Amino acid sequence: MTRVLLIHPPVSKPGEPPAGVARLCGALHQNGISCTAVDANLEGVHFLLGLPVRSDDAWTLNASRSVGRKIHELRSGSAFKSIGHYNRIVNDLNRLLSVHGGKTGYALGLVDLTHPVLSPLRSRDLIRCAENPENDAFYEYYSSVLLPAIVKQEPDVVGISVNFLSQALSSFALVGLIRKRMPGLPVVLGGGLITSWMRNPAWKNPFTGLVDVCVAGPGEPYFLSRFGIDTAEGSAAPLYAGMENLPYLSPGFVLPYDASSGCWWRQCRFCPEPAEGNPYRPVPDLRVLSDLALLKKKTNPSLVHFLDNALAPSLLESLAESPPGAPWYGYVRFTEHLLDQDFCVRLRKSGCNMLKLGLESGDQGVLDKMGKGIRIGAASRILRNLEKSLIPTYVYLLFGTPYELEAEALKTMTFAANHASGIGFLNAAIFNMPITSLEAAGLSTRLFFDGDLSLYADFEHPAGWDRRKVRNFIDKTFRRHPAIAPILARTPKFFTSNHAPFFCMDRKNRISA
Ligand code: SF4
Repeated sequence: MTRVLLIHPPVSKPGEPPAGVARLCGALHQNGISCTAVDANLEGVHFLLGLPVRSDDAWTLNASRSVGRKIHELRSGSAFKSIGHYNRIVNDLNRLLSVHGGKTGYALGLVDLTHPVLSPLRSRDLIRCAENPENDAFYEYYSSVLLPAIVKQEPDVVGISVNFLSQALSSFALVGLIRKRMPGLPVVLGGGLITSWMRNPAWKNPFTGLVDVCVAGPGEPYFLSRFGIDTAEGSAAPLYAGMENLPYLSPGFVLPYDASSGCWWRQCRFCPEPAEGNPYRPVPDLRVLSDLALLKKKTNPSLVHFLDNALAPSLLESLAESPPGAPWYGYVRFTEHLLDQDFCVRLRKSGCNMLKLGLESGDQGVLDKMGKGIRIGAASRILRNLEKSLIPTYVYLLFGTPYELEAEALKTMTFAANHASGIGFLNAAIFNMPITSLEAAGLSTRLFFDGDLSLYADFEHPAGWDRRKVRNFIDKTFRRHPAIAPILARTPKFFTSNHAPFFCMDRKNRISA
C-alpha cells in the first residue's frame, strides 16, 4: 500500500519525466512516507500510439505501420541525424495521436490537447470534463490501465500535478473518474497551472466539492503537514525511482532538475513571475552539485535539463568548476559572466550543450522599458563568445509588447539576422499580457476568452501595433528573412528546446540544418 499517489496527467511533452512530481516524491520518501509516481502522460501517449488505427488515409496508415520503429528512432537517437528526418518522425506520431483524439472530438497531439467547445480556461468546462470523463481523449487508458492501478495501490490520497493548459481538460476528466469510482479517496490538485490560477487575486475556488484541496506553490509543505510532519520545504533531492527505465521519447534518460524556484532577476515587467509574487528560492550551489552527483549515479542521464527560469551566475561558476558529468542545458540571462570568453569555454568543457537566452528585443529602448536588464551591445558580444566557445544557443524573441512598434520589430529582426551564425535555434512569440501584471493596469485589456481562469489578456496597443499586424510581420517578413528562415527550419517541431540539444551532441563546431 502506498500512502501518496502522485499523477502527472496528459498532455505535456513526453520526452522526460515530471520534475515537480519527482521533487515531491523525494521529500515524502525522505520523511518516511511511501509515495508512488505515475507518469500518466507518458503511459497515455504510448497507450494511444499502440492502438490499431482504421483509416483510408495513406499518411495515417503508413505512420501506424511504422510507429514502433519511429518511437525506437527517437529513443535511440537515430531520429536526430537530420532535422528533416526528425520532423517526419514527430509529424507521423503527432498525426496518429490526432486521429485517436479525433475519435473523441479532441484535437490531440504530442504536446497539446484542445477541444472545439470545452476551454481549459473556464471552470464550468473543466467541471463538465469531470462530470463526463467517458468523453475524454484518454478515457480508454484511464479506465483500463490507470484506474485499476490506483485501486491496486490503495493510496490514502491522490495528488494530480497540473502544470500546463494542455493538461487541464484531461486532468479534470481523471478527477471525475476517481470521484465516480473511488468516492472516498481524497484528491489534491497542485502544479504550476494551479499555482498561477490561485495567485490571481480574483481566485475563488470553483472546484469546491469536486477537488478536496488545491495547493499553490511547492506541494511539500501541504503533504508533509497532512502526515503531521513539520519540515522545511525543498530539503530533499528529487526521486526518479524507476522513471529512468520508462520509454520517454528522447535518446537516453533526460534528468530534469530545478536549482531554484522563482527568478533571481524578477524585474521584467511583462513576466508572470514578479506579477504572481513568486519568491526566489535557490538551492545552495553545493547542494545542487551533490544532488546531481547522486542523481547521476542513480539515473545515468544522457542529458541534464536545468528547469530554472534563469540559472544563477554563481551556479554557472560552480558547474564550470565541478562539471555534473553529463551534457547539460538551461536558461541563462545575458550576464557579464558570459562576456568572458574563457568562462564560456569553461562552461562548454563542463558539458554545457546548449544555452537558452531570452533576448526578447533587439532594440535598447524596448529592452529598457521591459526591465530586461540587457545591454544590446553586451548581448551581441555574448552571442559571439558563445559561438566561438561552441555553445549552441536557443534564443527567444517577443514581438508586440506595448513598448514596440514596427520600427523596433525590424531592429529585432536585423539583430537576429546579423547574429544568425551564433543563434542555433529560435523562438519568435507574440506577446500576451499577464492579467495580473503591472502593465495590464495601465492599458485597456480584454480577455481572449470569456474564461474565469484566463491568465493572459489581449490589450489595446497604445500606438496601434496590434496582434494582427504583429502576426503579419512575423509570418510575412521575419520568418522569410534569408538569414532567419534556416534557423527556424532547423528548430525542432513540437518538442522544441527539449529536443534541440540532441541536435548538438557530438558536433564540434556547427549545428546541422
Ligand atoms: S528573467 Fe525571465 S523569469 Fe526572470 S523576470 Fe525576466 S522574463 Fe521573468
